[in-house]
Amino acid sequence: MIDSLRYRHRYLIAILILLAACTHADPLPAPTVTPQVVQRFKTTPTATNIPETLPATDPTPTSLFTPMPEPPDISRRTHTHLDVTFDYAQKTLQVTQKISYTNTTDELLSPIPLVIPPATQAGLFRLESLEPGPGTNLTNLAMENSQIWLHFQPPVMPEQTIEITLDFQLNIPPGGKAFGYTHRQTLLADWHPFIPPYLEDHGWLINAPGPVGEYLVYPLSDFTVNLCLSPPDLDLIIAASAPLTQQAEGCFVYHTLAKRNFTLAISPYYHVSTASNKTVTVKVYNFPAHAAMGDRTAKLALSAWDTFTELFGDNQRQFMSIVEADIFDGLEADGLFYLSDWYFSSADQTPKNYYELLIVHETAHQWFFGYVHNDQANEPWLDEALATYCELLFYEKHHPGLVDWWWQFRVHSFSPTGAVNSTIYDYNEYRPYINAVYLRGALFLQALRDQTGDDAFSTFLYKFVQSGEDDFMRDTTYFNELLDTVSDADIAPILSEFFH
Ligand SMILES: [Zn+2]
Repeated sequence: MIDSLRYRHRYLIAILILLAACTHADPLPAPTVTPQVVQRFKTTPTATNIPETLPATDPTPTSLFTPMPEPPDISRRTHTHLDVTFDYAQKTLQVTQKISYTNTTDELLSPIPLVIPPATQAGLFRLESLEPGPGTNLTNLAMENSQIWLHFQPPVMPEQTIEITLDFQLNIPPGGKAFGYTHRQTLLADWHPFIPPYLEDHGWLINAPGPVGEYLVYPLSDFTVNLCLSPPDLDLIIAASAPLTQQAEGCFVYHTLAKRNFTLAISPYYHVSTASNKTVTVKVYNFPAHAAMGDRTAKLALSAWDTFTELFGDNQRQFMSIVEADIFDGLEADGLFYLSDWYFSSADQTPKNYYELLIVHETAHQWFFGYVHNDQANEPWLDEALATYCELLFYEKHHPGLVDWWWQFRVHSFSPTGAVNSTIYDYNEYRPYINAVYLRGALFLQALRDQTGDDAFSTFLYKFVQSGEDDFMRDTTYFNELLDTVSDADIAPILSEFFH
């Protein structure tokens, strides 16, 4: 039987030794990564983030919130519990994260990685402690690139559930980034550690950041998030990717099932607009200059949600936040998206602008990203080409007179070139990447539709989306095989024209 206190102490020490990157008399093995685990890196990994200073004592979680009892979770999905204290003045997050993970593969798993997106940049992530739950024997952990690899002996068995609890601090960097702050907002996207998907043929799916595009692949998880403000009486508006479950004394509780990630935006200035119907609630967070656009934005998103429900079937998400943000362009998360304030500033009163196109586009990502799972780094076309084509589908229904305008404005005016199935590592700049993946992607989908006919094409899209329900990752091979089942059309010439 393990002496849990001694055990905990030992692993805290192990972490500190590893993170201090120094030798020590402790007999723990050197940090290694077992070679049979495949990582799908396509570029040189970015700098390892190793904290320079060590905490003097065993850190104690500092959340102001008294945790709610967990609802029963009978699924085999990962459950992620985040206790977060946001120090508004210091722009830091103090986090206690508990992950409950079930090995749903047929293989023995060790090591198991924790992907830590902020650790791709030095100085943002500082691990303070990590403890395994009962019934597991953690023999070593190693920080490599932006992952922590957890070595279990014996390995984690199929159907075995393990628990990991980690304490860490995040320093939110300044700048208009999806994890960063400006003078009027703090954005928290891709900020929490997670266990990536495990592909039976390839191993752990971990991608490195690229010069363009998104790179993280999140499996579904249930989330419980307790966010507490420090000090608690701050007058801040919080946009979240799930509805608020409970609020008390500066603390905000969210509980949501089967989402890819949990995303927030915080500002003292947001104006909030809300719209609901039977299938979804949309909340829009605008800076004061665009407060008058909130209702228009919510109504447009509701209309897009209904259109995609008709085309692709129900999406059980039923909630979406739209956040005006100090970022370049837009960024989708599960249950929330950021959209650059430029799109709000530049919109006219007509549907002929990027503001309208991108509200529709980002809403479509709740199906092609949220619902259907794909490798965003290596096959970004599977969500981006489809989300772009969704703009056209929306305009066909709501603005049929603007279909030609859409093709000219959105696609032909850029004379796009490049392979639709490019990766994010194939480009150093956004414009040629978008031209190839998004715009030629839309041309590719139109060519498929012309070849197969409207009925077969719409049946195909419906089936493709609904297949996402099991959270098995969809790839190009699956796309082509499914297309084969709904149409006898010869698509080989189209594939050779658009793919490399
Ligand atoms: Zn997109």
